[in-house]
Amino acid sequence: HAKLDGRNTYRFFTPEMRAQSLRALQLENALRRALDRDELQLHYQPQVRIRTGRVHSVEALLRWNHPKLGPISPSEFIPVAEDTGQILQIGEWVLRNAVAQLKAWRSAGLAELKIAVNLSAIQFHQPQLPDLVSQILHAAAVPPDALELELTEGVAVNDPRTATETMDQLRSRGVRLSIDDFGTGYSSLSQLKRFQIYKLKIDQSFVQDLDHDGNDRAIVSAIIRMAQALGMQTTAEGVETDAQLQFLRDMGCDEAQGYYFSRPLPPGEELLDFLKGRA
Ligand code: C2E
Ligand code: MG
Ligand code: MG
Ligand code: MG
Repeated sequence: HAKLDGRNTYRFFTPEMRAQSLRALQLENALRRALDRDELQLHYQPQVRIRTGRVHSVEALLRWNHPKLGPISPSEFIPVAEDTGQILQIGEWVLRNAVAQLKAWRSAGLAELKIAVNLSAIQFHQPQLPDLVSQILHAAAVPPDALELELTEGVAVNDPRTATETMDQLRSRGVRLSIDDFGTGYSSLSQLKRFQIYKLKIDQSFVQDLDHDGNDRAIVSAIIRMAQALGMQTTAEGVETDAQLQFLRDMGCDEAQGYYFSRPLPPGEELLDFLKGRA
């Protein structure tokens, strides 16, 4: 089971690699049925304004509970869905469901609430994305500025022309664009300004060790200052402690998201109470 690659060296297909690709194949097949069988669900995590304690928006996070395999993390199945193209169908389902849920909350008294939805680069490179988004918002009678789309850095790297057009179209229709996991990829700072990015979400890897890592403190405060200078909002991800929150507040970070306030929750009474208490 060794095979020759192009440079006359041997590559081994280790048992570990074999197990990994079997798992991916298994997930791919199971995913095909997941939508029909109602196995996908969205949970929502509040984004809390640090100065006021209010919640202006919640982030939709995908959950998959397979009847036999159990709960599978999006960090595991999203990459599989991206490889197979299934992410397009799943992503559309996520958009429709998140917007429908937002509509329900707005009708239930949370009139100003907004929603953040994660987008894969593959979705982003579909030229019809802006029309799809507009159509979904229109059908639910939700204003475009109630939707934040989270993109990762580097979304514009492979196909800058389509990405630029898509961003311009979304922006001109009023949809807000955020950069997720900011600081872990590579961003062109001139593009951030040019695309009028609404919000930078500071990656949780910088937030985690704020208490004892001076480099992380320097990075986080530099991101916040840059965002302020360019007129962008900042949200810190993965906030778990009071000390982290205190530092972020001192630095002027706008929002915090993390277990300190709330885990991502299903759209039930517990979440509704939380949101109503901070509306
Ligand atoms: P993300 O968008 O950066 O989401 C933040 C992740 O951090 C979520 O993991 C969330 O549950 C977790 N988190 C929130 N607060 C804390 C905290 O205080 N401490 C720690 N340790 N973690 C916290 P999750 O839900 O497992 O999602 C992982 C990633 O999967 C997301 O990262 C996002 O990139 C992707 N994802 C989730 N839903 C979707 C979706 O609908 N579409 C796409 N394309 N990607 C999605
Ligand atoms: Mg996100
Ligand atoms: Mg993130
Ligand atoms: Mg992430």
